[in-house]
Amino acid sequence: MAMIDQKEILNLIQNARNSLVYSYCPYSNFPVGCALLCDDGTVFTGCNVENATYSGSICAERTAFVKAVSSGHRKFKAIAITSNLTNDLCAPCGNCRQFMVEFGEDLIVILANRNNDDYKQYTLNELIPISFGPKNISDYNELKDQKSSQ
Ligand SMILES: [Zn+2]
Repeated sequence: MAMIDQKEILNLIQNARNSLVYSYCPYSNFPVGCALLCDDGTVFTGCNVENATYSGSICAERTAFVKAVSSGHRKFKAIAITSNLTNDLCAPCGNCRQFMVEFGEDLIVILANRNNDDYKQYTLNELIPISFGPKNISDYNELKDQKSSQ
């Protein structure tokens, strides 16, 4: 499992908080900001971007992942997620958990609230156990190839 120190965590949380201001959320009025740490130390931020169709909306987490992957990054250490909630933590939705699993179940997920340094740290595997991911498809295709070569 990837390791991350306290300084990196607090830096990520601060980056996540800074990106709250860019949130486009005229429908939910619920800004979410996040910061994604790549294995090479690069940080990509994200915010939720809503859409009048509602279904076209994208969460902060997927925004950050799409920015990172489309810039050539595929290995990630951690993501910090925050909202304007002052006491509660903002957990990633099911769509985002699935989206993130694509790039590794060991991702560290840091949930922080708005005003203080309280946060909770999980692995993605804890948030989406027994997930379906790339390994399932590669295992299936390997098995299929073995059968067809017999
Ligand atoms: Zn989401």
